[in-house]
Amino acid sequence: MNKADLIIVGGGPAGLTSAIYSARALIDTIVIEKMLPGGQPILTTFIENYPGFPEGISGPEFAERLESQARRFGARIITSQPVKEVLRVDSGFEIKTEEESFFCNAVIIATGTSPRKLNVPGEDTFTGRGVSYCAVCDGAFYKDKVVAVVGGGDSAIVEAIYLTRFASKVYVIHRRDQLRAEKILQERAFANSKISFIWNTVVQSIEGEKKVELLKLKNVKTEEVSELSVDGIFVYIGSTPNSSIVKDLVEMDENGFIITDNFMRTNIPGLFAAGDVRSNTFRQLATAVGDGAIAANSAEKYLGELSWKR
Ligand SMILES: Cc1cc2nc3c(=O)[nH]c(=O)nc-3n(C[C@H](O)[C@H](O)[C@H](O)COP(=O)(O)OP(=O)(O)OC[C@H]3O[C@@H](n4cnc5c(N)ncnc54)[C@H](O)[C@@H]3O)c2cc1C
Repeated sequence: MNKADLIIVGGGPAGLTSAIYSARALIDTIVIEKMLPGGQPILTTFIENYPGFPEGISGPEFAERLESQARRFGARIITSQPVKEVLRVDSGFEIKTEEESFFCNAVIIATGTSPRKLNVPGEDTFTGRGVSYCAVCDGAFYKDKVVAVVGGGDSAIVEAIYLTRFASKVYVIHRRDQLRAEKILQERAFANSKISFIWNTVVQSIEGEKKVELLKLKNVKTEEVSELSVDGIFVYIGSTPNSSIVKDLVEMDENGFIITDNFMRTNIPGLFAAGDVRSNTFRQLATAVGDGAIAANSAEKYLGELSWKR
């Protein structure tokens, strides 16, 4: 039966943490995930700053552990079903996927974010043929090759360092003259002889015959245009919220992130949001799991009040 007290949309760290808390509190819980459970950690090589793992943990292993913990307490996890729309109906919410509809009394939206694109010519044409957003997925294809990483934040620098395992050369292309990444990451990158930095520069186009061969670059200070021969380009320039499924339902900020209070409540009673999809948050694993726990607790209280009223 496609019914549950609580449906969690998105099986990343925030959603799976909500599922651990709600299923353990004996709330009938379904998680609907568009791909495999785990979220962004599946695309992450190594996590060093999540408390409790002093030696660090691989992203995919972290994801697997979250999933098995949620299943252990009885959460039903439905995979490979993208949710298309969330609707308010008399008795609660209808959650529509391409294949079917689910009904519930409360919903937690934990759909996270997707990588922001460069939006330059060649990016779409060569995605999967030299353009990538995931070093852990595609890095091994670049053994002894030359790659570029675009970005200057934590993700860009972590993945640039990871790519030096395979690539003979890694160029980091950044539109500013200094990095935003944590100092400890910066020091590691500056000390790595395989990494070179191209400052104050943006990618204008990605070119090649059948796969990526060349980047056209522009220096934003001098306006000078140059060419860089590469075999691949990895893009880490931020993220956009996966919030379109509730776009006509909940209040969002100007960038499409869902607005909540400190209890993860949105402006719609019974509809909660947690993790990276939320406005004004730090967007890390520790904050995503914290949000997930709070959202589950708020949903539990909401469901309790609902049954008391009926
Ligand atoms: C390369 C990289 C490295 C990182 N490294 C670190 C790190 O070292 N430390 C750290 O603390 N944080 C790190 N982060 C950030 C961290 O991964 C995120 O903050 C965290 O994953 C957010 O969790 P979330 O559950 O909110 O969202 P996500 O992890 O984005 O999960 C959302 C889930 O929802 C699913 N979904 C989306 N739309 C739908 C839909 N319509 N229907 C059904 N399912 C849907 C997605 O498939 C996904 O599984 C890193 C991120 C990246 C990209």
